[in-house]
Amino acid sequence: MMRSGYRVEKPLRVAVIGVGHLGRHHARIFSQIPHVELRYVVDIRKDRASSTASMFGGIPLQDYRKIPLHEIDAVSIVTPTTTHFSIARYFLEHHIPLFVEKPLTATVEEAREIQRLSEAMDVPVYVGHVERFNPAYQYIKQNFQPVCFMEITRVHPFVPRSTDVDILTDLMIHDLDLLRCLIGSDIRVVDAIGVPVVTEKIDAASVRLEWPGGRANLVASRVSRVHMRRWNIFAEGRYMMADFQHREVSIIRLDYNNPLMFTNRDFRLRDFGEPLDRELRAFVNTLMTGRPVSPELTDVASAVRTLEFVDSILRIIHDDRMRELSPWVAPPVPEISPLLS
Ligand code: NAD
Repeated sequence: MMRSGYRVEKPLRVAVIGVGHLGRHHARIFSQIPHVELRYVVDIRKDRASSTASMFGGIPLQDYRKIPLHEIDAVSIVTPTTTHFSIARYFLEHHIPLFVEKPLTATVEEAREIQRLSEAMDVPVYVGHVERFNPAYQYIKQNFQPVCFMEITRVHPFVPRSTDVDILTDLMIHDLDLLRCLIGSDIRVVDAIGVPVVTEKIDAASVRLEWPGGRANLVASRVSRVHMRRWNIFAEGRYMMADFQHREVSIIRLDYNNPLMFTNRDFRLRDFGEPLDRELRAFVNTLMTGRPVSPELTDVASAVRTLEFVDSILRIIHDDRMRELSPWVAPPVPEISPLLS
């Protein structure tokens, strides 16, 4: 929710906290937006802060507490998820508006506290649910019929990033957030399963959801051979595949005039620009104009609802399944037989 009457003067002086894999892109994009000044780039790793500053400008720092607060109008937090809460609280307590990368925090309790502080201090907080800006989601949203069956896959090969939280909080949250936006609060969790594979947290999960007239099976994993971000949507007389990674859509429709004939359409979605660029510009313009400029920009209340949804699924996994499944990952992994290689 946008605070009424909130407005900052131009130029907007921004600090990016955490300039690793994603934060570097935040710095690049802020450095390119008119009327924005990238004032500080902060990372506990000196080399990262320095190299980002030399590429995109800003003063490099290793400790965000060293930023002179009167010199900044907004902060973007792109550090590991488990650090979001303490960093966000620090800046909120100093009345600095925030953009926090998704997920808002590692736990629901922390997220609710950030929402409480944001409302109590009357300081806006927005959250980086960037898939809302993906043209694949925009297309689904415009053509969505709730009476359908969906099969949703989001997987990637293992990388040692974002392993401070489980796969639902890190990755499946994208699809859960979009489903929540499309369907609202009528979604019920039918079943959920999740297993640790290479970390101590859940690395792969499968979730079944239902709502009036609809069902969805979701799979998310960070232990895969391939990258895939794909929604398959089956409805009466038509099938649609939306590829979030390549921003392509395939549609197969039954031709009612010619029974058992189908029409096929494959197309690339119109590119409206890099989703992260559009999201950060929406954040900047919202602060500058004092009113929400994009329905896709995620406010703190919406981000909290999404984390509550994730949490409700995690509870089902932990209560019903983990104890039963965890023994199969406990023994040491046997060597792969050379005969098989
Ligand atoms: P990363 O590990 O590549 O980068 C994090 C950086 O933060 C590192 O350079 C690290 O040194 C720095 N850091 C850690 N603690 C710090 C602190 N206290 N102060 C300053 N710097 C600190 O991770 P990443 O992949 O860039 O992910 C960062 C965040 O962005 C995570 O919350 C992740 O979930 C989110 N993310 C969102 C999306 C998306 O699609 N919206 C995609 C990737 C990552």
